[in-house]
Amino acid sequence: MTTPEDKDGKRRWRPPADAKEAKDKRTLTERQRVKNSKLGKSSRAWVERQLTDPYVRQAIEAGYRSRAAFKLKEIDSRFSLLGRGGRILDLGCAPGGWLQVAAEHKPAALAGIDLLPVAAVDGAVIVEGDVTDAAALDRTLRALGGPPTVVLSDMAADTTGHQQTDHIRTIALAETAARIAVAELAPGGAFLCKVFQGGAQGALLEMLKQEFDDLRHWKPPASRSESPETYLIAKGRRPISR
Ligand code: SAM
Repeated sequence: MTTPEDKDGKRRWRPPADAKEAKDKRTLTERQRVKNSKLGKSSRAWVERQLTDPYVRQAIEAGYRSRAAFKLKEIDSRFSLLGRGGRILDLGCAPGGWLQVAAEHKPAALAGIDLLPVAAVDGAVIVEGDVTDAAALDRTLRALGGPPTVVLSDMAADTTGHQQTDHIRTIALAETAARIAVAELAPGGAFLCKVFQGGAQGALLEMLKQEFDDLRHWKPPASRSESPETYLIAKGRRPISR
């Protein structure tokens, strides 16, 4: 994807044009198809959102498998996590958007794991399994050939529609990812993790503050404003002996 150059000569990814522009670009057929479809109200709203979402359009145009790819691009553009030549572990990697973005950074090794099958991504080893299954996680880690320098987790449980339940399940996944990051990361390594805003993540934040030099919260523009998700960015894994 082409990106304009900034004054410092660095090429940075830019968010796509706003939703209105994308909406206007929809063909009449697309609009009529949604209007006339026999979908229920919430499904129709979902389809309508997909058709009007500039990130969905841009993901399709750029060949990314998920609009989530842009969240990682935006986070990396601000926090410089991915670097070059690292060993990157992606927890909950399906359908592979983050793996595609990570692969662009020419890592020394890249591995992902998900409950769901994921089509191959050039340069990545992908394991189908549960991150809580020690054998599956071990296979994924071994594919890196050394301790990860970056651990990513965009893991999310299937939503139930019950906000509190969804929140608790996402925090549980974030805690699992954090435990893996703390146990496996190379000193100086970084951890990026999806969490939900507000509520029961105090213990997780406290633990991460102890283990990393720098801990931030950020909701990238590509994360829908109506979504409670936000991201934790932890940099500078402290050496275990400290
Ligand atoms: N970052 C991905 C991308 O850009 O394509 C999208 C990730 S998607 C939002 C969240 C993923 O977490 C789902 O594919 C789900 O199967 C996975 N997941 C949830 N719980 C998991 C677990 N216990 N072990 C492995 N993957 C899990």
